[in-house]
Amino acid sequence: MMNTSRSKDLYDRAKRLMPGGVSSPVRAFAPYPLYISKGKGSKIWDVDGNEYIDYCMAFGPLILGHAHPSVVKVLQEQAEKGTLYGAPIEKEIELAEMIRNYYPSIEMVRFVSSGTEATMHALRLARGYTGKNKVIKIEGAFHGAHDAMLVKAGSGATTHSVPNSMGIPPEVTKNTLLTPFNDISTVEKIVKDHKKEIAALIVEPVIGNAGPILPDKDYLKSLRELTSDEGILLIFDEVITGFRLAMGGAQEYFGVRPDLTTLGKIVGGGMPIGAFGGPEEIMSMISPTGKVYQAGTFSGNPMSLAAGIATLKELERIGHRELNRKGEAIRKGIESVVNELHLDFTVSGIGSMFQLFMTKGPLRNYEDAKRSDAALFNKLFRGLLEKGVYLPPSQFETNFLSTAHSDEDIEKTVNAYDEVLREITQ
Ligand SMILES: *Cc1c(COP(=O)(O)O)cnc(C)c1O
Repeated sequence: MMNTSRSKDLYDRAKRLMPGGVSSPVRAFAPYPLYISKGKGSKIWDVDGNEYIDYCMAFGPLILGHAHPSVVKVLQEQAEKGTLYGAPIEKEIELAEMIRNYYPSIEMVRFVSSGTEATMHALRLARGYTGKNKVIKIEGAFHGAHDAMLVKAGSGATTHSVPNSMGIPPEVTKNTLLTPFNDISTVEKIVKDHKKEIAALIVEPVIGNAGPILPDKDYLKSLRELTSDEGILLIFDEVITGFRLAMGGAQEYFGVRPDLTTLGKIVGGGMPIGAFGGPEEIMSMISPTGKVYQAGTFSGNPMSLAAGIATLKELERIGHRELNRKGEAIRKGIESVVNELHLDFTVSGIGSMFQLFMTKGPLRNYEDAKRSDAALFNKLFRGLLEKGVYLPPSQFETNFLSTAHSDEDIEKTVNAYDEVLREITQ
């Protein structure tokens, strides 16, 4: 057994100071989370000196791996010049131009500090623009931890059994209408029942927050047609998929153009960020040019812009082909282990995203994902930790590869899955 006694000591201190000892619930796991002291490339080290191949990658932002030299360099340079001014800087223009270049649906963008803010304000904008109040949300999707979206929410809300949070007035959530993923007829019914009341439909084009769930062929196209016909804004929440599936995100990958897009995670290169954008006609309704209010002390902050620009330039140079090939390799590897052991489990994923669901496929929506044996997944998670493989600690999250992961990392990881799955299932 590996020694994690220093993590335990730190957790004992932390749990008296912070609920569950953590700053975000997704980081908590039993009996105590590991305290990380360092990351480099595809690896992280805990405070007891144990090394892990990391597939959490901070839940997605670190597409170049930890402490990439070109990101470190620009952060050092920016820190020397000051970290925040509360005034515009040239880097905002540079990153906005890069985003617009890859996302033809985005003419204008507003930078914020988190994905939560991005979706919250994109929804406010959609309501302001359309003059309607209701929004359609997909069950099991996660769009950040704000009131309107904590209804059948995935990610930590599902892991910790609070997909519908306490503390949210029913007057707020009555405007959030739910539909399963990959189900057009329910959307049609909702639209019919609420004629002229619906401002927007928000969707993760690939669900990442119930584990990865892929859209059926033509699902996104059908959503596009239906929403266009009804004057409903289609919002792609690309906080995970943006710059991950392709430079132009899921909208490039699947060839479907939303009205509004939310970005986050990768676009800040490991620093806090969110962004939302769309056509000038809609975006100019945001303050100061329009009457939809939005503001933030840390918005467009120089450190995040610097890290984001450096990350996107590096990605531009490297391309996604190798990264996505490695995604394919790890999915195939785990799948062959599952087949060899005759397990009724499902490997799901796309590009550099993957997850092993402890249930039979196909997985098309939240209900399918929830059938998974989450207790068995926790055994897999613990077993993999012991073998030096660090996953996000939940069945309802996605594992991420970075450009720093090597073929050797993948081989070791597949071997670890093999050994642990044998131990916990045979
Ligand atoms: C992570 C995530 C968010 C929330 O972003 P934060 O930066 O954690 O606030 C929103 N939408 C999706 C799809 C996400 O994965």
